[in-house]
Amino acid sequence: MNTMDTPLRDGFPLLAASPDLHYLDSAATSQIHRSALDAVARHETTCRANVSRGTYRLAEAADRAYEQARQTVARFLNAGAAGEVIFTSGATASLNLVAHAFGNTLKAGDRVLISVAEHHSNFVPWQMLRDRTGIELALIPVTDAGQLDLARLPELITGNCRLVAVTQCSNVTGAWTDVATLVEAARKVGAKVLLDGAQAVQHGPQDVRALGIDFYAFSGHKCFGPGGVGVLWGREELLAKLSPFHTGGGMIGEVTPQATTWAPPPQRFEAGTPPIAQAVGLAAALEWMMTLDWQQIHARESRLCELLVDGLLRIPALRLLGPESSAARAPIVSFDIPGLHPHDICQVLDARNLALRGGHHCAQPLMAALGIDVCTRASIALYNDETDILALLDGLSFALRELA
Ligand code: PMP
Repeated sequence: MNTMDTPLRDGFPLLAASPDLHYLDSAATSQIHRSALDAVARHETTCRANVSRGTYRLAEAADRAYEQARQTVARFLNAGAAGEVIFTSGATASLNLVAHAFGNTLKAGDRVLISVAEHHSNFVPWQMLRDRTGIELALIPVTDAGQLDLARLPELITGNCRLVAVTQCSNVTGAWTDVATLVEAARKVGAKVLLDGAQAVQHGPQDVRALGIDFYAFSGHKCFGPGGVGVLWGREELLAKLSPFHTGGGMIGEVTPQATTWAPPPQRFEAGTPPIAQAVGLAAALEWMMTLDWQQIHARESRLCELLVDGLLRIPALRLLGPESSAARAPIVSFDIPGLHPHDICQVLDARNLALRGGHHCAQPLMAALGIDVCTRASIALYNDETDILALLDGLSFALRELA
C-alpha cells in the first residue's frame, strides 16, 4: 500500500523535472503518472495493432491488452461487468453519447433534469436534444454556496422526468453533489441518473453500483492517465436497449445494402478505431490509483484545501465561491477579487511558477447564477503539498500589490 509518506510527486515525470512548478490546475488536466506513460510506450512498442479485426498474434495481443484495460476500468468503478465499460475520447464524448443514444428513446414532453452547475459538456448536448426533439429541459438551481439546491427536487422531478444528468462534483466550486438524495428522488418517478464524474475520479476509485446510478462519464487526462481517452459506464440492461450514436467499423452485427444490425454493447458504441494505447495507459493509471490509501490522501487534500481557504478568507474583498467546509467540496477552490481580472491574476502568478486557471471554466450558467462572469480557480491533487499553497497565498499578496 502506497502511503502519503511516499513522495507522490516523484511518480509524475513532468513534476519531477520541474521542482519549482506549483501545479494547481489539476481540475483542467492532471499530470500523467509514470505508470501510464510507461504502459503507453510499452503497448506502442510491443503490441501495436488494431483491435477486434486481426487474427495474427500481434493483433491478438492488442485485443487482449485493450480488453484487459476495460476490465481494469470495470474494477475501478465496481461495475457489474466489463461489457458495461465503453471507451470514448473523453467525458465530453461520453456525455454526448448519452444525449444521443438515450436521447433517442425520449419524445417531446419528456423531461431531462440537469443543473445550473453543469460544465458546458453536460449542458449544451441537452439543449441541442431539446431543440431537436421538443423534450423539456429543467434546471436544478444552486444555493448561494454553489451547491445544487436539492430542496427544489420535489417540484423539479416531475412524473415525465426520464433522466437526471448532473455533475458529481462542480469543476468551479468543488461542491459535491448529494447523489443519494438525487437517486432516491429519481427512482420514485422511474427516471435514470447520469453522473458526470469528470472531477471526481482524480479523488479516488468510484463505486457506480453503490451510487445507484445508471450512467457514469469521465476522462483519462483528469485521473493521471493519457489524453484522448475517456469512459462511459452504463448499466448492461440499459445499454442493450440503446441504438448507437456514432456508426462505422467495429459496431455492426451485419451490413447489407438494405440495412445494418448492431453489435452488442460495448462494441455498439465504439465505432471506428478506439484510443487503444490510451485505454491501456488509462488502465495503468487506474491500477496505480487502486494501490493508494485514499483515506490518507483525502485527509491531506482536505488539509491543503483548508489551508488555502483560510488564507484566501484573510484577503480583503475576496469572494470565495462554493462551500466553506472542506467536507462539502473536493479540493477545488475558486474566488473572485472585484476589480481584478482572473487572467491578470493568473499571469502574475505564472511568473512565480504558479499554474492556475482563470475564466468562466466552461460553466457560464453557473457564473451567471453566482453573479460573476469569470473567476480564478486553484485545484489541488494528490501530488500537491503545503509549499504549493503557501506559494499561492504569497503570490496572491504580490498580485494584489502589483495589480492594485
Ligand atoms: N465535466 C466536468 C465537470 C469537467 O470539469 C470537464 C472538463 N473540464 C468535462 C466534463 C469535460 O471533460 P473533457 O474536456 O475531458 O471531455
